[in-house]
Amino acid sequence: MNRSDKPSGFETRAIRIQAERGPAGEHSVPIFTTSSYRFPSGQAAADAFAGDRDGPIYGRFDNPNTDEFVEKLASLEGADTGLATGSGMGAVFLSLLGLLHAGDHVVGSTAVFGSTLSLLKEFLPRWGIETSVVPLTDLDAWRTAVRPRTRMFVMETPSNPGLEIANLAALADIAHGAGALLTVDNCFATPYLQRPLELGADIVTHSATKYIDGQGRVLGGAMLASRDIIDTVLPFYRNAGPSMSPFNGWVLSKSLETLSVRMERHCDNAVAVADFLAGHKRVRRVLHPERKDHPQHELAMQQMSRGGGMVTIEVDGDRDKTMGVMNSLRLFTTSANLGDTRSIVTHPASTTHSGVPEEVRASLGISDSTLRLSIGLETAQDLMDDLNHALNE
Ligand SMILES: *Cc1c(COP(=O)(O)O)cnc(C)c1O
Repeated sequence: MNRSDKPSGFETRAIRIQAERGPAGEHSVPIFTTSSYRFPSGQAAADAFAGDRDGPIYGRFDNPNTDEFVEKLASLEGADTGLATGSGMGAVFLSLLGLLHAGDHVVGSTAVFGSTLSLLKEFLPRWGIETSVVPLTDLDAWRTAVRPRTRMFVMETPSNPGLEIANLAALADIAHGAGALLTVDNCFATPYLQRPLELGADIVTHSATKYIDGQGRVLGGAMLASRDIIDTVLPFYRNAGPSMSPFNGWVLSKSLETLSVRMERHCDNAVAVADFLAGHKRVRRVLHPERKDHPQHELAMQQMSRGGGMVTIEVDGDRDKTMGVMNSLRLFTTSANLGDTRSIVTHPASTTHSGVPEEVRASLGISDSTLRLSIGLETAQDLMDDLNHALNE
């Protein structure tokens, strides 16, 4: 695969960055289900192990499908390179453990994915890495959390499910002033809508399970960064083995080919549904970054080309009424996933955030009446009709 002669458009790169063709001249890349690779001679094997020879060695860290996926995603994020992982959490774990040492300190946002918060609060301290957790949008809190050994800031934007927007350029300045790296989980936006590295971030992580697959089929993740950072993490990656399977690499690389058209339609449908719900008398509040009444609409539109496919609403009623709305939906699926072609409804207070203390939930904008909607690619009118009937029930 040669990125140096690649055409420059986002869609063209998403489609045309491809593993080298084999003897059959296949147009679409095949799946390389091999755990290992043969060497032409004993000396070639010795040279490969000594790092003096290019070419694949072993499936834990080399595979044409996973390499194609991660090189393509790195190009789309504007990163030098990256590492593919078996899940999104594998990528988060890799970005932390591959770079941090005992005695280091990390500042994270309260509004990160639940498992990321568990790594920060429960697991890193076990290994002698200290952590602080601060509100995503409070820049002073990030500043005052900095300690002499602060090495990393960790966050997601837009956040889940409050759809808060982190000011990435400002946070990159604060992090760099403290000698720390800024890591952004770009799962909700994808590189089609937002490229954190261009705004000053140092590392992007992805759960490719969500919009990158986009069809609810496979787990996957990736860490993207400069060659220096990836070279630092590489020994840990090779030895610890959080690898992605060739099949998942193949599926996810194919998925990137259609990311731009899917994300445009997710955004169109989300805006249509959000506008409809904003005018519905049984809905108290609607959040979508593309709507002017989003508290950080301007910042969102500076950092993102569009608002994404997630809509968070506050139902006008108590927990029972809200559960009733969810149960009356016929098209929306009740699930904890997001970023699927199929629209999904989630009640964060009783599922994804049930382990979060109530006052912290409130600070994240989650009440018993909050519903998170992952707007899929069905006909927008059918989604609105479904919500309308469920709200009026
Ligand atoms: C789902 C998710 C993850 C974890 O990804 P997995 O692929 O499920 O391991 C991390 N961050 C965000 C924002 C997510 O939505």
